[in-house]
Amino acid sequence: MPNQKLICPHCQQETPPKNSSLNDVRIQKHYRFKVDVLSSEQIKNDKIKWYCNDCMTSKKIIIANWKQQNTRGYLAFEWMPILYYVPRQICCKFCKTDFKFPAKAQQQWYEDYQILTDVSPKLCYPCRQKTRFIKSVNEELAPLLKVVKTNPNKAAFKRISELYLALGNTQKAAQYLARSKQF
Ligand SMILES: [Zn+2]
Ligand SMILES: [Zn+2]
Repeated sequence: MPNQKLICPHCQQETPPKNSSLNDVRIQKHYRFKVDVLSSEQIKNDKIKWYCNDCMTSKKIIIANWKQQNTRGYLAFEWMPILYYVPRQICCKFCKTDFKFPAKAQQQWYEDYQILTDVSPKLCYPCRQKTRFIKSVNEELAPLLKVVKTNPNKAAFKRISELYLALGNTQKAAQYLARSKQF
């Protein structure tokens, strides 16, 4: 099916496979196909990531230096290298809003930081900040809750109250504030 037309998954334009990155020998090698024997079924069923030449030449797509990537999975399983970094929209696991994962940032992740090519960010920036904040509050809170069991004291109860307030737990915050006033 040499002249079949496909829809570029990036710009949604109809394009023959020959005018796309499917023509890239690296892709053909990895997916074990030749562009002239490629069927649209194969493209739909396999997760072949490809782009039309127009998309490729647009500056938004960065050609990866894929030998720099970390594709070693568990139990000697090899992940696919990423051949092109394409701007992605990812849905945040927490707040369910879409956030951008730009091509440049992907290049940093997978080539500079050596993050496994199968891994992508799960949380948007505000949610990442939030979880980091919650983690740091809990790190201070946990030992304090232990301390007051053996050594109840005003300062500790007051601080626990403040930390619960920071976490938005007003009920606990009020309880511990009341206990701090018993001293
Ligand atoms: Zn395209
Ligand atoms: Zn979020």
